Amino acid sequence: MNIRTRFAPSPTGYLHVGGARTALYCWLYAHKHQGTFILRVEDTDLERSTPEAVQAIFAGMEWLGLNYDEGPYYQTKRFDRYKEVIQQLLQQGKAYRCYCSKERLETLRAQQFANKEKPRYDGHCRNLSLAVTEQPFVVRFHNPLEGEVIVDDQVHGKVVFQNSELDDLIIARSDSTPTYNFTVVVDDWDMQVTHVIRGDDHLNNTPRQINMLLALGAKPPVYAHVPMILGTDGKKLSKRHGAVSVMQYRDEGYIPAALLNYLVRLGWSHGDQEIFSKEEMINFFDIKNINKSAAAFNVEKLQWLNQHYIKTLDPAYIAEQLKWHMQAQEINIANGPDLIELVIAQRERAKTLKEMAEKSRFFYEEIDKNIFIEQPIPVEIKPALMKLQEKLAGLTEWTDTAIHQALNESAEMFSLKLGKLAQPLRLAVTGGTVSPPIDCTVRLLGKERVLNRIKNCL
Ligand code: GLU
Repeated sequence: MNIRTRFAPSPTGYLHVGGARTALYCWLYAHKHQGTFILRVEDTDLERSTPEAVQAIFAGMEWLGLNYDEGPYYQTKRFDRYKEVIQQLLQQGKAYRCYCSKERLETLRAQQFANKEKPRYDGHCRNLSLAVTEQPFVVRFHNPLEGEVIVDDQVHGKVVFQNSELDDLIIARSDSTPTYNFTVVVDDWDMQVTHVIRGDDHLNNTPRQINMLLALGAKPPVYAHVPMILGTDGKKLSKRHGAVSVMQYRDEGYIPAALLNYLVRLGWSHGDQEIFSKEEMINFFDIKNINKSAAAFNVEKLQWLNQHYIKTLDPAYIAEQLKWHMQAQEINIANGPDLIELVIAQRERAKTLKEMAEKSRFFYEEIDKNIFIEQPIPVEIKPALMKLQEKLAGLTEWTDTAIHQALNESAEMFSLKLGKLAQPLRLAVTGGTVSPPIDCTVRLLGKERVLNRIKNCL
């Protein structure tokens, strides 16, 4: 079988982590089976869909490297096709025009409420003749009256729905626009989707969609409904819990590999393994190992993964990503060390690239001299620092070893422990108390800048 999955976001906002995880699972499943991953923009809600949101979703997917093989399809461009299928269902008597007025439906609902019944359409117009009148109408799907629909869900197992519980769904509104559940059905059918992987907030739509697919003579796809992502308080993840947008994670300094790795594990497992390359994800991913229960988003774990990838991925790749953050923080990278060298020096010290950029500013910009008034160098250290200044000025080789030796000799001359001189030197050249190893820091800053800063400090 040629596996075909789809990611079908409604473009009403940015790509959030829940959507990204769904997209990732669909992407992985398609890749694992050399299938096709389709992107479909479900933009029929004209009031809430925006072109900016479409772009934001594309940007999120691109940043994560979730490339699609087919699409993007837009539902708003398929209205003719939906109309055609509605006509077909009407002609076959599988759908009907419903002329019930708003008032009638309201009275019906009130009665059902009073009788403690579930609100549902009573099928009043089901057997009207096909003749079209001038009155406004909606089109309803003729749902089977009896029997049950079994959703053989790959995550939740068999879920049984009674047809008597499903009423005759509106598939076209009075302005003739198609409704959500119907467009999904036509699309999944036309696009020959074999596996629908989506959030389990859609599980209740599935029996309705299956009934419509069967009415159209289509074979329903395999369904897998993925549990929600929760916040730390056990409630559905939302803005209240902090960042939910994928691009916000980029802005905060996460790298795509870390977010992907985090998302794949959030709701899926492969033994105890925590770290997955993209290739491993593809090889090991299996719908059967998706967890049944909802998972809570844990930012510390994401940070841990991010740090892991910062430390272990090719420094050239990290440098490329860091560049974006340096620009975002308006640090001019032309004014200091090569970014790859910087990454090698800083990669053990930052959980995020944003933090790495912040901690690297002193390599590229002058430091605030007030720091030397606030934290003056102890008088007894000054002679050693002056000696060191002299030795550094005389160095012919600007290497970690040579710098280290100059530091060592200067400290020894004044019977100081290395740290007693290294820390004031750090303050002098970085304006702070934390930095990569001092010899490496001094090397990366360059001779001229280092001598200047020592001079200013003294
Ligand atoms: N457009 C729906 C959503 O964003 C997804 C529908 C589906 O996957 O079937 O929630």
